[in-house]
Order: sequence, then structure tokens, then C-alpha cells
Amino acid sequence: MTTRGQTQQFDKALFKASVEKHLVTTYAKTPETADSRSWYLAVGKALAEISTGSLLETEKQLAEQNVRSVNYLSLEFLIGRLTGNNLISMGLYEEVSAAVEELGLNLTDLLEEERDPALGNGGLGRLAACFMDSLAAQEYPAVGYGLHYEYGLFSQSFEGGHQVEAPDAWRGIEGYPWEVVRPELGQTVGLFGSVETYTDKAGTICRRWVPAMTVEGVAWDLPIVGYDNKSVYPLRLWECRSPAPFNLARFNDGDYVGAQYGQLEAGNVTKVLYPNDNHDQGKTLRLMQQYFHCACSIADILRRHFAAGNKIEDLAKLESIQLNDTHPTIAIPELMRILIDEHKLGWDAAWAISSKVFAYTNHTLLPEALERWSESLIADMLPRHMEIIFEINHRFMTLVEEKWPGNNEIKRKLSIIEEGQQRMVRMANLCVVSTYAVNGVAALHSELVKRDLFPEFNELFPGRLHNVTNGVTPRRWLKFCNPGLTELVNEKIGTEWPAKLDQLSGLAKFAEDKKFQKRYLAVKKDNKQRFADWVQDNMGIELDTNAIFDVQIKRLHEYKRQHLNLLHILSLYHRLLNEPTFDMHPRVFIFAAKAAPGYALAKDIIFAINKVADKVNNDPRLGGKLKVVFVPDYRVSLAEIIIPAADVSEQISTAGLEASGTGNMKLALNGALTIGTMDGANVEIREEVGDENIFIFGLLVDEVLKQKEEGHDPYRYYHADSLLRASLDLLNTDEFTPGNPGQLSAIRQNLLDGGDPYLVLADFADYVKAHEKIDAEYRDQATWARKTILNTALVGKFSSDRSIRDYVNNIWKLKAVSVK
Ligand SMILES: *Cc1c(COP(=O)(O)O)cnc(C)c1O
Repeated sequence: MTTRGQTQQFDKALFKASVEKHLVTTYAKTPETADSRSWYLAVGKALAEISTGSLLETEKQLAEQNVRSVNYLSLEFLIGRLTGNNLISMGLYEEVSAAVEELGLNLTDLLEEERDPALGNGGLGRLAACFMDSLAAQEYPAVGYGLHYEYGLFSQSFEGGHQVEAPDAWRGIEGYPWEVVRPELGQTVGLFGSVETYTDKAGTICRRWVPAMTVEGVAWDLPIVGYDNKSVYPLRLWECRSPAPFNLARFNDGDYVGAQYGQLEAGNVTKVLYPNDNHDQGKTLRLMQQYFHCACSIADILRRHFAAGNKIEDLAKLESIQLNDTHPTIAIPELMRILIDEHKLGWDAAWAISSKVFAYTNHTLLPEALERWSESLIADMLPRHMEIIFEINHRFMTLVEEKWPGNNEIKRKLSIIEEGQQRMVRMANLCVVSTYAVNGVAALHSELVKRDLFPEFNELFPGRLHNVTNGVTPRRWLKFCNPGLTELVNEKIGTEWPAKLDQLSGLAKFAEDKKFQKRYLAVKKDNKQRFADWVQDNMGIELDTNAIFDVQIKRLHEYKRQHLNLLHILSLYHRLLNEPTFDMHPRVFIFAAKAAPGYALAKDIIFAINKVADKVNNDPRLGGKLKVVFVPDYRVSLAEIIIPAADVSEQISTAGLEASGTGNMKLALNGALTIGTMDGANVEIREEVGDENIFIFGLLVDEVLKQKEEGHDPYRYYHADSLLRASLDLLNTDEFTPGNPGQLSAIRQNLLDGGDPYLVLADFADYVKAHEKIDAEYRDQATWARKTILNTALVGKFSSDRSIRDYVNNIWKLKAVSVK
């Protein structure tokens, strides 16, 4: 792997000594007794020593220069392993590889010892991680604020084909080598209690919150290392601890266990990440997590602001706070409370600051994902915040009355408070009203936000709604995960592209070059072999790298339609066995996905795919043409070996329901051809690579809406299409669950009698046709090579560096600051 100019002073002998020192003093192992894991920990600590120094230096220089910065607030950061990526950013990959070799170790093996910090569910958390990488790479001053969950997203295994969840203790017993605790940054957070009125010295009547309990927030920093520069930004994760280890009164009463109860309960606040993706569960503890996250983060932002000698009035000049979805919305009333109750600003002065500080990113139109909290729950846990939310709404309703006099229907629709048996606070409405910028995450999605979700808000606040199309960091998602392709690209267009991804377009002129095509396909083959070896070693399934590797990796969700993919597989199974003239190129269908533990149908789909896999992988009648692999425990480090090995990228959500997708970008960048609907960023990928280099199928957004309006009739498709009928009916047999018919029929039921809410049946025939086209085109390797090369060449737009520049130019208005 070629690295660019190393950005850190590196002395190999010194580094080796540091590794050995940590091995002995931090991990209590000798070089003779150390196993691979201890060596990884020691190497990680030795590197973290370097990055922590740079983090403090960056912090110091930015404070001195007192520059404007962005604070990225997210309940999730799905960062994945840090060691390999940080080595690349530090420009030390080769040097450290050589150093550890002299210690008798292999760097690639050591990197495999790191457990993924899985502090997120899927795309939303991964986006936050890519954005931190791109902020640091381009030196736009930033702090990421998240939660230090003791357990990240559950780890997944399969038993008899069923998903089994186990806790994910990502830090291990020894702790995570890259994190550093910052005790001096601790915060105290109130909860529950009441609001009282008092008169201050000036005779003004004031309100203040008197919490009934407090918990302590402890800051842990993870270093976000800037690629090819000297900046290191903090990803600051808050851990909740109880204020006092013991309740002394109880302890002296002899109630030893009860005395520690407070600690246990407070520890619970950041104990575990909620495992839902695109679904709001509305649990009390989740609201507590959200408030804890916001209270610690806002307090820390203000601490930095004042430490640099600034006045509260200048907050909006120096700080922007980006809310990653509505999860951190409670930060808005929290800042208002501090401005009014603690800094004694009047409402208008406080609002003038707050409404210029916050910006909000919308990630979904799915109604079940739009957060609403019951008013009574907020009033109980955060009584002063509820008062402030009411006041924001009251003033907003006055505005609505001015714009649409006497129109109660519009008021009901736009109000932050939803009336009903139990009044609810609509967090998205609170965000749109209280921020200076709202953005969707792909062009189509942002249009739908304007047109369907918030049309009146768009009229009321013209210019507030933006688009920022998502992106992915090319450092992790090409340079690190695909060294073979990296080397080939370097040879053709030089080594600047990881920081300037548009330069990949320089590859387009080699798309027809036979020699280049051969080498590009050889790299793909090597990557397929690397993954096939992994599957052989870990799952005992043998894969043929001449087959088409067809990949769908993402959270399991009905709207993502893994069951459409499954129906296609069943149709191939049916045709191979029943159509004498049917022929197909060998195909391996690769799935990876976690289902939320409470999502029954999603778990049924996993079970069905696993059962179908068992059968087809061992059915000699299929002549090895069809294989299905469901890789357990989908996570960033698994994506890093699957994506470079993919020929086909499945992006098949019901049009209008996937806000952007970023898996689609990673896969196209690594040369997989997309089969996809006109949804999310697929639309823009098609624009970039050209219609000939992508396989688009299915209903368009407005066709979906029309069909839903007119009443979608699944049985119409069932009766009209014999292949669909045969595929669906296989789910009612015991073909895949010998002796147990009906074990897979829940999916068929949902699609036929359940009304097929995601229009799987409506898109089936067109999907099958698109796959036939893929089959034909793959057989012509020169054509396929051209298309796959052009995919890599033409997706430079989807670098998260470009996303961040869009935010910087249109929303945050930051200047880059180069750290010396
Ligand atoms: C990129 C990524 C996602 C998002 O995938 P989509 O296909 O956009 O839903 C989810 N999980 C992991 C581990 C990822 O790397």
C-alpha cells in the first residue's frame, strides 16, 4: 500500500520500544507470553499516544485562533475499526507494518484483532463517522458528540437459521486502546423535579428548574485523524455515571445493595445502544439517553466558547450545531433554558442566538421513524424544557395564524404539539421551526421533504430547506479496504485521489483499454477470492469466483425489500428445476443484515433466506449455478471485505422510501454495478455513471404513490404472473424446511393478505427482467469490464469530502484551519 507523505515524525526504534513498553506496563504481558490480541492492544496504544498528542495540540491551536466550528451531534457513530484507517491518515501504514514485522508480527493479522466499535445501527451512524473523517481531512474545525455505550449494536449469530442476539462488549476487558478519558471535562446533568418561580435581585420574575436527581457525564475522546495533515479532532463520547458511588445513609443502614442502586440505574443510561433502525420505539430510557447526550454536549460547547474568552452573544458567530436526525432535538430547549434561566437573556435575545446555531438533517419520510414523545413524559423528566417547547409552539402558532388566518387545519398539521388522547411532541416539527437550515440527504429525498413532508414549512420559511447529498470517505471505502484497486488506480492517475475523488474520472479513458480491463478484472477476482476464503473459513461454504457475486448488505427492513431479492432467488430455483431451456451464469447471492430484535417479519425474512441457502447450496440438481450466503454479524469490518468483492449491488427499496443510501455509493466506487430503483441517491448515481452502466427497474415515486392511493391489489399480480406465483407458493411448501411446511409462509401471507405494503409484487416482473439483463451482460466480459471501470471512474461526487464542502458552503460557513 502506498502512503502519501507521512504527516508524523516517525522513529521506528522508538515506536517499537513504545509498543513493548505498553505490552509490559499497560497489558502485563512479556513478548514471550503475549498473544496476537495483546500485541494489537500494545500497537494501538503506542499509536494512540501519537494521536492524543496531536489532538491536544489541535485543540490548543483552534482555541487560540478562536475560529468558527461545527458540532456534530449524533446518538450514533458507527466508526468501525480505527487502527488501519488511522494508520493511513497518519501516513504510517508501511512504516508501522515494517516496525511490527521486526517484532515478529504481521500487521494485517494484528488489525484483525480489533473489535469494531459498533456505536450505531446502520447508514445514519456510518454517515456521522464518514463526516468526521472528511471534516478532519479538510481541516474544518469540528467536534463530534455522541454516547459512550457500554454495549454497541448486538452481535448476531444464527441458530437453526434464526437470528440470535448477544451483547456487544466492544471495549473488551482491557478497554479500547484508541480512547482517552477526559475527567476534567465532566458534566453534571439534572433529571425530573419541578420548575419554580422566583424574583431575582433586579426584581424580575424568573423561572428555574430544580431537578430531583443528577447524574454525571464522563467524556471519552476518540481521535479522528485528518488524512495527510496534522489535525486530529475529538469524537467526544459521554458516559453516564452516578454522582456518588454510594448513598451513604443507606449504606450505614446496612442496605449495601440498595446503596449502590443509584449507581446501577445511572449506569444504565448509556449501557446499551437501542437497536432500531428507522423505527421510533418511544422508551423512557431512550429519552433519558437523548437528554443526557444533549445536556453534556451543549455544556461542553459553552465551556469551549467561554474558555476562549467569548461572550454568550457571539455564540452563533462561532458555533454551529448540526442535529443528525431528530434524536438530539432536546438540545434546542436545553440551550434556550441555559440562555434564559442561567444567562438571563430575554426570550427574543435567546431565540435570536439559538435559532441561528442549530441546523437539522432529516433522514427519513417513514411515519414510523418520525420521533414523537408524549408531552407527559417530557413534562415529568424535563419540566422546564416542556414549558419552553410550549412557548416555542405558541409563538410559532402566532406566525401560522398571520400567514393563514383562521385556518385551523393547517395549525393542527404544523403544530409542534399533536393533539389527541395523549398529546405528543413532534420532534421534526420542533426542528424545522427552531433551526436555520434543514436538509435532506439526496436530491430526490430533499424534494420529497419539500413537496410531501414539509410543504407549508417551505412556504413559511423560504430558503430554509436544503439538499446535501450523502457521501462516503474514500480513505476507508477504497484506499484501505481495496488495496489491489488502490494500487492500480495510483499507477494510472497518481496518488492524490483519496483527497480529491473527482480525479477518478481520469480512469474513464482506460475503460476500453483491453490491458487495463484485464488488470481491473484480475483485482476484482482477487478480492472475490479473499472473500470466498473468508466464507470457506468461517461458514464452510465453497464459492466459485467465476460466479456473479450479487450483494445485498444493509439493515433488514421491509422497505429495503430483501424479500424481493429472495423471491427472485426462488424464481431462479424454480426455473432451473422446471424450465428445460433455462440457462443462467452461476450466481452467488450474498446477504448480510441485522434485524431489530423486536421486528418479527424482518427476522422471518432472515430465517427464510437461511433456509433457502441450506437447500440450494446442497442441491446437486442445480449444478452449482445457485448459491446463497447469509453472512452473520454485518458490521463495518465485514463490509470492508464484501464490498471490494461485489459484482452486483442490490439497491432495491420501494421508490421514495430510502432517503439516500450510502452502501450504494461504496459498492459503485468499488466497481459493483447497481441494480436499483429510482430511489435515494440511486438517482444521482445513475446521473453520474450513465443509464448504460446501471440497471434501473421498478415503479417511480409517483407511480408508487398513485398505486397506493388507488389500492394496490397483490392478488392481481399473483394471478397474472405464473413465475411470481410459483416463487411465492414455494414459501408454502416444505421444500426448504423438510417436514415442516408453513415455516416460511408468514412472508407470503404478508405479501398477499397483508396487502404488500412495500409493493414487492408490483416490482417483481421488472426486477426479474433487469436480472436477466445482468446475466447476459456479465457473460460478455469486455462489456462488463467497461461498465465496472466506469462505475469506479464516475462516482467521485459521492465522496463525503464533497458532502462536507456542501455543508460548509451552504449551511455552516466555516473556514479551514491548517494545524501546524
Ligand atoms: C454503509 C453501511 C450501512 C448503510 O448501508 P445502506 O445500504 O445505505 O443502508 C449500514 N451498515 C454498515 C456497516 C455500513 O458500512
